[in-house]
Amino acid sequence: MAIAQAIQPITLDDEGLRKALEDAFLPALLPAMAQVTGDMSLLDDSLRPGMMAPGVPQGGMTPDQQDRAKALLFEALRALRDGRVPPQPPHPVEDDLRRIMHWMTGAPVAEDYVPLLLEELAEDRDGRAPAWRKDPAIAFSVTIIGAGMSGILAAIRLKQAGVPFTIIEKNADVGGTWFENTYPGARVDVSNMFYSYSFAQKADWPNFFSPQGVLLDYFRSIADEYGVREHIRFNTEVTSAAFDEATCSWRLKLRTPEGGEETLESQALIAAAGQLNRPKMPPIRGIDRFAGPSFHSARWDHSVNLKGKRVAVIGTGASAAQFIPAIAPKVGELTVFQRTPPWFVPVPTYHDAVPSGLSWLLTHVPNYAHWYRFWLFWFSTDGLLPAATVDKSWPHPERSVSEANDQLRMLLAMYLQGQFADRPDLLAKVMPWYPPSSKRMVLDNGIWAATLKRENVHLVTEAIREITATGVVTADGVEHAADVIIYGTGFQASKFLTPMTVTGRGRADINAQWDGDASAYLGITVPNFPNFFMLYGPNTNIVVNGSIIFFSECEVQYIMGCLRLLFEGGHRALDCRREVHDAYVSWINAANMERTWGVSTVNAWYKNEKGRVTQNWPFNLLEYWRLTREPVAGDYGFL
Ligand code: NAP
Repeated sequence: MAIAQAIQPITLDDEGLRKALEDAFLPALLPAMAQVTGDMSLLDDSLRPGMMAPGVPQGGMTPDQQDRAKALLFEALRALRDGRVPPQPPHPVEDDLRRIMHWMTGAPVAEDYVPLLLEELAEDRDGRAPAWRKDPAIAFSVTIIGAGMSGILAAIRLKQAGVPFTIIEKNADVGGTWFENTYPGARVDVSNMFYSYSFAQKADWPNFFSPQGVLLDYFRSIADEYGVREHIRFNTEVTSAAFDEATCSWRLKLRTPEGGEETLESQALIAAAGQLNRPKMPPIRGIDRFAGPSFHSARWDHSVNLKGKRVAVIGTGASAAQFIPAIAPKVGELTVFQRTPPWFVPVPTYHDAVPSGLSWLLTHVPNYAHWYRFWLFWFSTDGLLPAATVDKSWPHPERSVSEANDQLRMLLAMYLQGQFADRPDLLAKVMPWYPPSSKRMVLDNGIWAATLKRENVHLVTEAIREITATGVVTADGVEHAADVIIYGTGFQASKFLTPMTVTGRGRADINAQWDGDASAYLGITVPNFPNFFMLYGPNTNIVVNGSIIFFSECEVQYIMGCLRLLFEGGHRALDCRREVHDAYVSWINAANMERTWGVSTVNAWYKNEKGRVTQNWPFNLLEYWRLTREPVAGDYGFL
C-alpha cells in the first residue's frame, strides 16, 4: 500500500511522457522531480506558483510558466527513464526539503515542517510507527471504542508496539462514518492524497475525492492488511466504562450482539467514537406526525423508492449538498428547506476521475504523491488560515472579519453570481450573509446551481413552522406536500461520548464534569479520567479543511507516547493535571475567538449550547503536530 511499493519503472516513450505531462499537477511534480533527480534547478524562481486560492488551477501558474515547466519536466523524466540520473540519497536531504517548501509556498516555512516532512517522505519506512515495544512482562491491555478511521489507526500503532488490545465496534463492519453514511452522492471533500493514512498512501486513487464505497474499501483493506480485524468485536456496544482506582483499570459494560451484557477489563481506554455519528433530528413541532417514510441522511433508508415521489429535504449542509443533486433527477418533486445558505468553494475536479496521465505520474514518480499531499496540507491550513483570522479593526464584521476574509468572500460571491447569473431569484436565496469559513464551506463543481435550477426542484427559505401528516408547513402558512421527508440536519456533535456513561476517579461522571461543555487537554486527555484517551475529541476539528486523518495520526502518536511514559516509568496510570488542562482550554478559547467561527453568530455545529466553540482547532496543523509529538511528563500526575 505504501507509495514506495507502488512506484514502477518508467517505460513510456517520449510521446507517452508528453501526454502524461498534460495531466500533471505541476506545483507538486516539479518538487518531486527535483528531489528524485537531485536537480534543484528545476525549481526556478520564475516558475513559482503564485496563487493559492480556491479553484485556481495549477496554483495560478501562467500558461507560459506551465509550458516551460512541462519542457523541463519532460527532459527530467527522459533522463530518469534513460538512467542518466545520478543515484540520490535514500532519504531526503534537509536543505533540499527547505528549498522545495520555500519554492512551493513562496515563503520560508516554519522550521518544524522539516521533521514533519521527514516523517512523511521517507520512502522505505513508516515515519510515525512507534520505535519501541512494550516489555511482554508488563501486563497491560487497551480497549478501543470504535473501528472507524481513528480506531483502526490506534490498533495499528498498538500492534506495532506489542500492546494487546480489543476493539469494540457497534456496527457490523469497520469504517465508522464511511460505513454509516451510505446516502446517494456521499464522498469525501478533502482530496484523497491528504485524506488517507501517511503510512498507507495509495498512488492510484480512482478519483480526486473518493465516493463513500471506495473509502470504505480502503479502510476495510487496511484493517485486513494490518491484521486489525481479528481484534474487533462487531455488533457490540460499550454502554458504560468505569475506572477502578484500586486496580488502575477500566471496567467496561458491553451489550453483546445477542442483547446480553458482558464486562471487559483493560488498563487503558481509547474512545474512537467520532464526533459526527449521532444524528440530530430537528426539534420541529409535529415531526412525529408525518405519515410517510422519513429518515436522516446518516441512516438512509434504501428500501424507500424515491422514484417519482414528492420529497422534502430539510437542511443544506455538507451532507444535503451531496445527496440533493444525486436524488433530484430521480424524484418527482424535490422541495429543499434551507435555513442558512452555505458558502460554496469551486472545485471543478470534485467529481472527476483522476486523469490517466496524472495517475501514471503518481505511480511512476517517487514522492510525487507526497509533494501533492504537502501542497494540499499547506494550502488548506497555513494557506487559508489568514483568511479566517479576525482583524478587530475591520469595519464590516457582519460580512467579513478582515481584508483577507473579505477577498475570499468576493471570490466565493463571484462564483455564486456566475453560477446563478440567469436566475436572480435563486441568487438572492443562495447568497450567504455571514463571513466565509464561519461554518463548513461546501465544495462544488457547478452541480448545486444545476440542481436548484431544475424544474422539479424548489428552494424554500421561509422558516419551517411545523410538520403535518402530509408535509411541511412554513411560517407563511403554505403547506408543502411531501411523500417522503429526508433530514440532512447534521449531528449532535458537541455531545461527546453520549450515550455512554464514563466514570473516572472519585466516581466522577464525565458528562457531569463537562456540564454540557466538553473539553480535553489536546483534545485527548481529561482530568480525573486516568488512562482515558479520546480520538477526534473536543477542539480537534478543522474548518478550513485539512484532514482529520492527520489529526488522528498526531493523537495516536501522543497516546503511544503516554503509554511509553507509563511503561518506562513503572507507572500504572497517568491523569492530566487540572491546571494544565484549564490553561490549555483558555488558550484554545481565546484563539478560537480570533477566528471567523468564533466571532460569527451564524448557526454552526462548531459551538455547543453554551456558545463555546467545542469542536474546532484554531491553529494550523503544524501546531497540533508539534504539541502532540510526545507528551510532557509534567503535564500528568502518575498513579
Ligand atoms: P450540518 O452541516 O450540521 O448541516 C445541517 C443542515 O440542517 C444545515 O443546513 C442546518 O441549517 C439544517 N438544520 C438543522 N436543524 C434545522 C432545523 N431545526 N430547521 C431547519 N434546518 C435545520 O450537517 P451535515 O451536512 O450532515 O454535515 C455535518 C458535518 O459532517 C460537515 O460539516 C462535515 O464536517 C461532515 N461531512 C463531511 C462530508 C464530506 O467529507 N464530504 C460530507 C458530509 C458531512 P443551519 O445551517 O441553519 O444550521
